[in-house]
Amino acid sequence: MPHTDATTPPDEKLHAVSVLLPTPVVGPYDYLVPAELNVAPGDHVHVPLGSREMTGVVWGPATGDVDAAKLRPIAARVETSPMPDQARRFVDWVAAYTLSTPGAVLRMAMRGPEDLKPPRPLVVFQLGDIPGDLRMTPARQRVIDFLQDGPSLAAGDLARETGVSTGVIKGLADTGALVRLELAPPPPFTAPDLERPGPDLSDAQETAAMSLRKKVSADAFSVTLLDGVTGSGKTEVYFEAVAAALAAGRQVLVLLPEIALTPQWLDRFEQRFGVAPAVWHSDLRQARRRTTWHAVSTGNARIVVGARSALFLPFAELGLIIVDEEHEPAFKQEDGVSYHGRDMAIVRAQIADAPIVLASATPSLETRVNVSRERYDSIPLPERFGGATMPDIATVDMRDAELAASRFVSPQLVTGLTATIAAGEQAMLFLNRRGYAPLTLCRTCGHRIECPSCAAWLTEHRFRKRLQCHHCGYEVPAPKICPECENEDTLVACGPGVERIAEEIAELLPEARIGIMTSDTMRGPESAQKFIHSVEAGELDILIGTQMVAKGHHFPNLTLVGIVDADLGLAGGDLRAAERTFQILQQVSGRAGRAERPGRVLIQTFQPEHPVMQALVSGDEARFFELETRAREVGGWPPFGRLAGLIVSSRDPRIADDLARALARCGPSTPDIRVLGPAPAPLSLLRGRHRRRLLLKTSRDVAIQPVLRAWLGQIKIPSQARIRVDVDPYSFL
Ligand code: ADP
Ligand code: ZN
Repeated sequence: MPHTDATTPPDEKLHAVSVLLPTPVVGPYDYLVPAELNVAPGDHVHVPLGSREMTGVVWGPATGDVDAAKLRPIAARVETSPMPDQARRFVDWVAAYTLSTPGAVLRMAMRGPEDLKPPRPLVVFQLGDIPGDLRMTPARQRVIDFLQDGPSLAAGDLARETGVSTGVIKGLADTGALVRLELAPPPPFTAPDLERPGPDLSDAQETAAMSLRKKVSADAFSVTLLDGVTGSGKTEVYFEAVAAALAAGRQVLVLLPEIALTPQWLDRFEQRFGVAPAVWHSDLRQARRRTTWHAVSTGNARIVVGARSALFLPFAELGLIIVDEEHEPAFKQEDGVSYHGRDMAIVRAQIADAPIVLASATPSLETRVNVSRERYDSIPLPERFGGATMPDIATVDMRDAELAASRFVSPQLVTGLTATIAAGEQAMLFLNRRGYAPLTLCRTCGHRIECPSCAAWLTEHRFRKRLQCHHCGYEVPAPKICPECENEDTLVACGPGVERIAEEIAELLPEARIGIMTSDTMRGPESAQKFIHSVEAGELDILIGTQMVAKGHHFPNLTLVGIVDADLGLAGGDLRAAERTFQILQQVSGRAGRAERPGRVLIQTFQPEHPVMQALVSGDEARFFELETRAREVGGWPPFGRLAGLIVSSRDPRIADDLARALARCGPSTPDIRVLGPAPAPLSLLRGRHRRRLLLKTSRDVAIQPVLRAWLGQIKIPSQARIRVDVDPYSFL
């Protein structure tokens, strides 16, 4: 019997629709569709919100939450390609999974609703004739100083760059001190050249590339792990899959953990395809974001390489996703909507019904388990390309090193460095700690200098003569006098950061040319690229760095890697501490001996018997992961169980405590569902907020979101407190 719905209006035209705005408010909101307007889901529209007008996306039929008589009309439809259905479904999916609002998710791919507007000519400002009687203010001066030798920028970018309001810029323009200049929008993207031949692949690489091409031509959802040792040529192999998807007329997304780290990747892409890909990350200037957003939705951009937020771009013809370094913890976003880029990439591929390739030399335990359960395919590349051998790895037992308290480099490592430089080769020292020293302590009274708004020590940055909190960014000039006992010259640096290691090496090997690579010394992709080129050109002997040096780089002449403190990541109760330490040390080790000359790795540790060190030295990675997996299974930890972290915070510690206890009291409890905590978070004070943690732990077959919703639904959150929900937490700080 045919189903008739009495509420369906006779014509198809929608009279009211819901519109999603890229802001974290609860949404979508309903709007009336004016009689003369036709809109469909995915269309971009201008709508009134309060006294403002914003650009949003038509999300679907009206929700009916607000009485139709009270709705305001859509102001205008924007002439641009719509946001595809898949992209909208993905936003909804991520919102539901992470317990966020869809607006907060949509917002992640952009800075604000302005980004949704189509690109328009770029209006930039440059210096004009400064009138003699110009009333000068510090803000105006900053803008003028900036433009004296800085680039011409759009008002918004110029305001951000100089820390003034756009009103200041408009005001200056009115006086003639600045003049407007209209530029054509940044050029759209050129299609990759698919006729260009790739490199000759080795047999193993060709077999792997064939399997990936097959996945692409199957044109259906599948997950494949490309499990290749460092230097095996994973990038070249997945480029073949990229080429196949592009040739089939599909769009491709390559996710990388930190876009700033990849100048070499971009070079290689250009070598392979003759053009630069569209790049997407959070530091793009607004004009570029708009152009890229629209080029992706119109299909002009065929390939995007980006950080995790690129997942939210409006791909219309997505046919392949690559997640490089899939094990990388940086794929997990911790602020705002907390989501794991790799996991959501798999969801995105599923929605697109497209293959996804996870590449790694040290796959995550989660991914390994999925391979063993045969949910993912795995393609191995067990050998380095071109016959390079894997490096020889040994530990240095620091208990025997008998170093002075202010020394951190063992005699064995110094000997290794000396020999490496003498042979005309390069070395790398890895220490995952920025700055000079993680703690400044008064020798007389024992006072430790802490951040006023975090439960954390301040790190000394000696080059800049400042102490800095690495959690909130608070900075002070390095004091000469102890703030507690007021004695002079009693403050001492405790422990090493990379700057201190560089100082020690400079004393030990005065002839060596040393370079430091951290996020403090590499500001932006250009400086990273310059640095990398100077390493490639042999202008440096010893490269000292944080995790920035660990990934991706290929320096053929680098033969020695020294791990300054291998134990650093093992402290604390993080369930992935051992796995992560193994992965990062394996990655760093993989920088050694990637070409003709064999590599060597020296690992300084106080616990050479630790399973992580044993696994690195023996190369028995399988056994290490077997033991880790068993431990997780026995404990019911992910991926054998599910977790959600709840962080209660407030400026008032009592409010935080009360709310955390109230949450615990009404927490769910069944044999499959448990609440752990509350307990003060390890970082019990952050940016002035007191933090308490609870952990919801369930068995694998429990859907954790409904449990969380029901639980949180019982709680009234006082206005001075917040609860942050972190489904699948990776940080337990
Ligand atoms: P991985 O990502 O597995 O560590 P890469 O893809 O970075 O390995 O490859 C290591 C180095 O070997 C790179 O410089 C790369 O250009 C080179 N390489 C890999 N495969 C080939 C090939 N088939 N032909 C020429 N060079 C190759
Ligand atoms: Zn702080």
